[in-house]
Amino acid sequence: TAYTAADNRYETMKYRRCGKSGVLLPLISLGLWHNFGHSDDFKKARIILRTAFNHGITHFDLANNYGPPYGSAEENFGRIFNMDFKSYRDELFISTKAGWDMWPGPYGNLGSRKYLIASLDQSLKRMGLDYVDVFYHHRPDPETPLEETMGALDHIVRQGKALYVGISQYNAEDTEKAAKILKELGTPCFIHQPRYNMFERWVENGLLNVLGKEGVGSIAFSPLAQGVLTNKYLKGFPEDSRAVKDARYLKTDQITKEKLDKVKKLNAIAEERGQSLAQMAIAWILKDERVTTVLVGVSKPEQLTDNVNTLKNLTFTENELKEIEKILA
Ligand code: NDP
Repeated sequence: TAYTAADNRYETMKYRRCGKSGVLLPLISLGLWHNFGHSDDFKKARIILRTAFNHGITHFDLANNYGPPYGSAEENFGRIFNMDFKSYRDELFISTKAGWDMWPGPYGNLGSRKYLIASLDQSLKRMGLDYVDVFYHHRPDPETPLEETMGALDHIVRQGKALYVGISQYNAEDTEKAAKILKELGTPCFIHQPRYNMFERWVENGLLNVLGKEGVGSIAFSPLAQGVLTNKYLKGFPEDSRAVKDARYLKTDQITKEKLDKVKKLNAIAEERGQSLAQMAIAWILKDERVTTVLVGVSKPEQLTDNVNTLKNLTFTENELKEIEKILA
């Protein structure tokens, strides 16, 4: 059946400026790393995207190799875009990336100009788009000069194939260098995509300072530590959880007793706040204004609604923050 977006879609979502750009991004964005491949339920994927947009989530994040198989998340997104979202293209902010292994041989990986330009062309074909809003270099490549990789990003913008560019997983020092090169080229670095959640806080030791100083926005990936920062693993390992059904990146033995003990204590604080732990974990990231948006993944539409309801309580008392620090220490 045809999709018409909810009339009230912009009423509850809040938006934050991405660095020193002209663009506002929703506080919650949706990533298609999991749950959108050919091995996943297409109908459910379509409902998740509709649910997102109905709640004012305008930003969808992809990469060339999301699936499995590689490329299939972009293909499925393209199919759904064509059926449901074509008339909303100008209300959407769509990203993709290249940097990890994508095709065989020396030109399908890392950070060369050759790889990045060819990969984005493939991504646009799979998604059926003329351009993406953001194109990222997905991870640092120590062997390729930063000038070459940043030059490729600048070129892609001048070709009209991306409106903005970003980097992912770069450390503070390389981020500063990359931002300077991009500035000189005349294509400012728009956004940085780091992993950031209550358990993984490396961005607090320098990266966020660089981003603030350079006027670059940020989008925190795996904000729920792939689902560990929810109450789902407190009573065992559910059959439909990522750790059980898809152990590529989250294995049950990574979810240790020690970690679950912390999760249990955090969950108690969330309950006192009248929130789910997922909501508290998202709000906790958003308390730093240098984080533009939190990039969640969901396996069910209800999880997305739960996450969007974070917006009902984004503030923390001094005492709550202290208690959380004690648990995380
Ligand atoms: P999250 O930390 O949000 O984990 C998502 C998982 O958490 C879901 O699949 C679901 O698990 C569970 N979940 C989400 N919301 C809830 C809820 N309300 N209640 C209970 N469980 C919930 O993020 P991801 O690790 O999926 O990463 C998000 C996005 O970040 C990716 O899609 C991708 O776009 C990006 N990313 C970027 C990387 C990079 O290198 N730049 C690397 C990794 C991710 P379950 O399946 O068990 O139901």
